[in-house]
Amino acid sequence: MLKKIILCLGLFFLQLSLAQDQTAKENFSIVIHGGAGTILKENMTPELEHAYRTTLAEAIAVGHAILKEGGSSQEAVEKTIHVMENSPLFNAGKGAVLTAQGHASLDASFMDGKTLNAGAISGVSHIKNPISTAIAVMEKSPHVMLSGQGADQFAKSLGMETVPNSYFITERRQKALKRVQEREKKAVSFYDPFIKDSKFGTVGCVALDKAGNLAAGTSTGGMTNKKWDRIGDAPIIGAGTYANNASCGVSATGWGEFFIRAVVAHDIAALVEYKNLDIVTASKQVLRKVKELGGDGGVVVLDRDGNVAMEFNTAGMYRAHMNSSGELNVKIYQNE
Ligand code: ASP
Repeated sequence: MLKKIILCLGLFFLQLSLAQDQTAKENFSIVIHGGAGTILKENMTPELEHAYRTTLAEAIAVGHAILKEGGSSQEAVEKTIHVMENSPLFNAGKGAVLTAQGHASLDASFMDGKTLNAGAISGVSHIKNPISTAIAVMEKSPHVMLSGQGADQFAKSLGMETVPNSYFITERRQKALKRVQEREKKAVSFYDPFIKDSKFGTVGCVALDKAGNLAAGTSTGGMTNKKWDRIGDAPIIGAGTYANNASCGVSATGWGEFFIRAVVAHDIAALVEYKNLDIVTASKQVLRKVKELGGDGGVVVLDRDGNVAMEFNTAGMYRAHMNSSGELNVKIYQNE
């Protein structure tokens, strides 16, 4: 009799733990950003604001559907970022900001939280969807980062879609370049507030799939009027992008030079992994460090339980989050 009771209890607890496991596995989540900066309501038309909100919602819905079907966080990140790269609104792919010579020069990176595999490209001119080539560097080359013409050739050799540089260029970014160049003539330092604001608009995504795997990706045109083949934090693993199933996934946007110096994405993951901080506290702490150095920007973060952080120290950050039950949160300004 006692044996039977013990057996029944054993079976009961086994089922309970399997059920809990199942719930945990349903706990997928996705978060995106479309850049941080001086984004103020008074500078925004209702039409433009509507366009941003709609595209953010459209992008995150793509990744959410993939995760819901049981797809991987890698695929969710890639396809979500495609929507933002293909939209002229964001500083990534079409609509990227322009270099001092008036060209688009793109950077992107991706990291897989399960294997700690990563891939990145910087300073490319012809790859339609840089995030896919960053993933291809991870999967189809022995390297982590490729740059410039070599990276463009690598994409071509794999049959990835390439476009003339003019595809990326929009009138809005040409006007912005002109404004920054006019201002540059009068600026006393590189840290002129107007020039400083030319560094935002990157896109990024972090996803957690039903298998419990985190992935993070970031894609950008960098900063307006960049010279000397300047590269920011976005393609640098540990600065603009990081993912580790043991802690969290992070994608950053902001003043790249400071995000490189503060090693933002890895620093947040390290605080979570080694100090057991929650992702909101860890993000705030690292963004404080960025501020103290003189920089600003923001991050989106997911931990392995699907908790989300969307932290920034600028006036706004285009951002959205969707949990497994499909609750959507799209925000732009600080006090939303
Ligand atoms: N962090 C990017 C860079 O410095 C810019 C951005 O986030 O918009 O290249």
